[in-house]
Amino acid sequence: MNPTPSSIELPFHDELGFCNVLMSAIGGDGANMAAKLLFKACVSELDLDGAYDARYGSEKKGTPTDVSLRLCRLGTPVHESGPTNRPHILCVFREALIQPLALNRGLQKDAVVIVNTSKSPEDIRAELELNSGTIYCLDATTIAVETGSRLNVPILALLGKILKIPIATLREAVGKTWPRAREANLKAFDRALEGCTQKRFEADGKFELVPPIEPRGKLGYMNMNDGGAIDSVTHISLSSNTPSASITPIPEFRVEICTHCGLCLLVCSDPGSLVWDDKKMIAIDPVFCKGCMRCVEVCPETKKGKALTEPLGATSTPTSSEAEAVLVKRV
Ligand code: SF4
Ligand code: SF4
Repeated sequence: MNPTPSSIELPFHDELGFCNVLMSAIGGDGANMAAKLLFKACVSELDLDGAYDARYGSEKKGTPTDVSLRLCRLGTPVHESGPTNRPHILCVFREALIQPLALNRGLQKDAVVIVNTSKSPEDIRAELELNSGTIYCLDATTIAVETGSRLNVPILALLGKILKIPIATLREAVGKTWPRAREANLKAFDRALEGCTQKRFEADGKFELVPPIEPRGKLGYMNMNDGGAIDSVTHISLSSNTPSASITPIPEFRVEICTHCGLCLLVCSDPGSLVWDDKKMIAIDPVFCKGCMRCVEVCPETKKGKALTEPLGATSTPTSSEAEAVLVKRV
């Protein structure tokens, strides 16, 4: 039986039938969650198909995050799930990323760009050096702060509208996905749809179309990322740091009990947190560790107890000299 095509007419199609969306954010902005929500709604409720890919590094260090959605009509062959480097739609969560990441690379002619900013479309066009297309300037930060939501919800609402996704479907998905923040998120969702500044720019010769770059050469079976894998080449964050990076409580680690079984590595939400040397676990790096305690759950109980335990009281938060000591061990 042939699949039933969706009644949704996507606004763009490339030569393979895909509408490519790229979200550019930093760890912790929720771009990944928003994209997953949108993708799930598209494929499970709206008879669309496609591929999803996320590339990210340490959340705690504010590493740039790229999330790609490639949407197509049901029945279009989907051969791979890698990132898009030819976006029709670009969502910029942090305006400050535009120039360092050269976000105009690979943007299609007549692209749609959503930017979280209080600036004008003209200013953003100049920063982005956009060849042609429509820029939507949405002050998602103010909306998120005033409603108690996050950046990802207002941006998701506007993106859904541009993709012509039924707003009621998306709104319902937002409410269901984050039930505890439902009220705040729905307020932010509705606020984003009340209006933003937008302007269309023709290809007037001011800025050229910029070809995509392929940092590791053309992707193929030899160098393809697995879905969701960290691309350490383009997302390395060793040199960056954030003021809050060392204040999260982290697990207590007793090296003398550790059997170096590696179970903690399997579950760690930011594996850079677990410091290994010569096949032995030697420390937790507080600069990366987010304190999720997943490793504590899986660390096996031995006669002497568990090597990883939840922190107790004041000793849970590493001091800067403890953080420094771990960093020295890593180098
Ligand atoms: S799970 Fe526990 S015992 Fe195993 S390597 Fe990690 S800290 Fe050591
Ligand atoms: S608490 Fe454990 S699992 Fe979570 S980030 Fe830190 S080291 Fe990794």
